Amino acid sequence: MERLGLVRDIDLALHLPLRYEDETQLQPIAHIRDGQTAQVEGVVREAQVELRSRRQLVVRLADDSGEITLRFLNFYPSHQKVLASGQHVRVRGEVRGGFLGREMVHPTFKAVEPGAPLPSALTPVYPSSAQLPQVYLRKAITSALGRAPLDEVLPPAAVPPGLPPLKEAVRLLHQPPPGLPLATLEDRSHPAWQRLKFDELLAQQLAQAQAVAARERLRAPVMSAAAGPSSLHARLQAALTFALTAAQARVCAEIDADLARPVPMHRLLQGDVGSGKTVVAALAAARAIDAGWQCALMAPTEILAEQHFHKLVQWLQPLGVTVAWLTGSRKGKARKAMLAQIASGEAGLVVGTHAVIQDDVVFARLGLAVVDEQHRFGVAQRLELRHKLVETPAGAPPAPQPGAVEVRPGTASSGAASPGARLEPHLLTMSATPIPRTLAMTYFADLAVSTIDELPPGRTPIVTKVFADSKREQVIARIRDELLQGRQVYWVCPLIEESESLDLQNATETHAQLSAVLGAALPGCQVGLLHGRMPAAEKAAVMAEFSSGRMGVLVATTVIEVGVDVPNASLMVIEHAERFGLAQLHQLRGRVGRGSTASVCVLLYTGPLSDTGKSRLRAMAETTDGFEIARRDLEIRGPGEFMGARQSGADLLRFADLNGDTGLLEQARRIAPRLMAEHPAAARAHVARWLSTKAEYLKA
Ligand code: ADP
Ligand code: MG
Repeated sequence: MERLGLVRDIDLALHLPLRYEDETQLQPIAHIRDGQTAQVEGVVREAQVELRSRRQLVVRLADDSGEITLRFLNFYPSHQKVLASGQHVRVRGEVRGGFLGREMVHPTFKAVEPGAPLPSALTPVYPSSAQLPQVYLRKAITSALGRAPLDEVLPPAAVPPGLPPLKEAVRLLHQPPPGLPLATLEDRSHPAWQRLKFDELLAQQLAQAQAVAARERLRAPVMSAAAGPSSLHARLQAALTFALTAAQARVCAEIDADLARPVPMHRLLQGDVGSGKTVVAALAAARAIDAGWQCALMAPTEILAEQHFHKLVQWLQPLGVTVAWLTGSRKGKARKAMLAQIASGEAGLVVGTHAVIQDDVVFARLGLAVVDEQHRFGVAQRLELRHKLVETPAGAPPAPQPGAVEVRPGTASSGAASPGARLEPHLLTMSATPIPRTLAMTYFADLAVSTIDELPPGRTPIVTKVFADSKREQVIARIRDELLQGRQVYWVCPLIEESESLDLQNATETHAQLSAVLGAALPGCQVGLLHGRMPAAEKAAVMAEFSSGRMGVLVATTVIEVGVDVPNASLMVIEHAERFGLAQLHQLRGRVGRGSTASVCVLLYTGPLSDTGKSRLRAMAETTDGFEIARRDLEIRGPGEFMGARQSGADLLRFADLNGDTGLLEQARRIAPRLMAEHPAAARAHVARWLSTKAEYLKA
């Protein structure tokens, strides 16, 4: 029960049936038909164990109207006793028209006295697990229902008109009275279901609003946007070789406004692959450094971290900023030196993988944390990030424990830290996977979102072509043409080792094939190989060769999925494209089309394709718009997968359905702020009832 989250009486009371079984009526055996689920009662005429392909118990049951066979493949002596010849039993199961007449396989059964009364209510069937029998769960829930505090906590005006009181709704759903049309319970349109769904959505909206309110009470360093022409921010902007797009300028302004407040920013920057999020992060970092604070930028992989590192070094180092680099593979002396730079405050910017938070890193004055491709980090990791970045409580001396990141107010910050205040850094997360609207309104309602909805000018759209693997030769010829024009090519493979179950071309094999064919056609052509199991230093060396342009072709597994930026690459081939998810294909494709040359993405598939495989590849060929892709992805996969870590940690919406219940969602959204303001105690009680242990996940 605990594993199912059934701890308190209220948890049990809110554990609602999946469906119901109608045990209120008996059917004459002669009347039941093939395919029907029926309840019958009669006397056992004959019971015997047969040895066919498998040992089985076969029982003949008769009532006044006819006979039926019951068949059990698993059975115990206790079952045989109840089903012995001459016993009177009540049986419920699905009827099958077998070769030897009608039968029920594994029906439920119990011994009853002839004429024993039938239940008067429908029998609920609860979500459960193999270890937890329905009968047991039913008893536990029935008894919890008597004790659970289900009194109304919401003021009447907060409940949409026409919905029953909570207690009444819960009772009805557990024990629906006879005669109630089952359809409205099963499609969950009955007012009782509506009430439960509304309460659940309201709890979620309130919890998110509370998370926002709690964050508003925290203190963060003020990073004023009013900096002169000699500021790092102004000099960085002047040094850029391009002008910001209007969308970039807008999101920069949104971020600046957050940084200028004494409250920690909690903002998601979303923008399609290639929309230019890195420069936005660099400009935010410049604001932090101008105000006398350090900035940490974290990426989920070493390769991505290194790409950021090079870009940021290239931008910021000439302007006098020390950029430190911290990853798991950087050890020994180099690492010690970096740690010293970070601890002394000399490093204005620290770039790295999650090593930045996990290790014995002590920042002198961390003011801003930027997390790239945040969906790749799990909820637990993000929570850890928040906890670790929090300053030690006021009054307590900063304890330099291993693993703790300590924050001290910056000397140059303009009075941001009153003595004794706890300061948290600002947090900016970045993602190329946009959040569809319904999810943004529910699971991410607590998050401020900035969107870059425009690509830098001069990009030629990527053309996507879908080919069967039989066209491989032609594709390789196309690679040669591309190389002859001085351009570069990615070839992406799904696995790195031969797998017996999945007959996939592996990256090593493809690498050998391309090296042979292209090496013969173009002497001196370099074909590189990159996969997840290579040591980090080797990966970095291969990436450096490819980035410099000396390597023409990079055969890679999905390690290049996020963030790699080589504008001269104009062709991407994705092998076994049918094995990839839509979001992943889109991320991969975003590695090309970063320069001004027309780029092509070739999706090679090995047929036959499943329906979802087909719709994925079709979507890829039809659109390059990340928002449209996200919408279709949500359609194909449903919200569960889309939410990834955020949801798996806490399945916050058990009853409401994001597609079907938008009306209730709108009502909950409208009511939540008023309830918080006018009835704060009711709001707290409501959240506690629904979410007690789950609210923590909302803070991630
Ligand atoms: P992503 O949003 O996918 O992280 P990047 O930040 O890697 O995108 O940017 C992609 C490329 O576009 C980089 O080479 C970057 O320097 C360049 N870029 C960014 N903004 C602009 C702009 N306003 N004009 C021209 N190029 C830009
Ligand atoms: Mg990026």
